[in-house]
Amino acid sequence: MPGDNLVRDLLEIAVLVALGGMVCSAVRRLKAGRVHVYRCHACGRPTSRAYPDCRHCGVTRPGRPPERRDR
Ligand SMILES: [Zn+2]
Repeated sequence: MPGDNLVRDLLEIAVLVALGGMVCSAVRRLKAGRVHVYRCHACGRPTSRAYPDCRHCGVTRPGRPPERRDR
């Protein structure tokens, strides 16, 4: 039935548009700097700010207590 194909095509296009929009907004957020990737000062690799130590080389971040007290 041609109607079924049309519905399926429309659904596929809708999914593609939704995925593309999500990717575009994520890239835009990254470019705007709102998602900041913390990089280790010793090895330069991206690590998590949730941990006081670098997960790659184990170096502790300088000048920062384990708890966030800057707020
Ligand atoms: Zn490191």
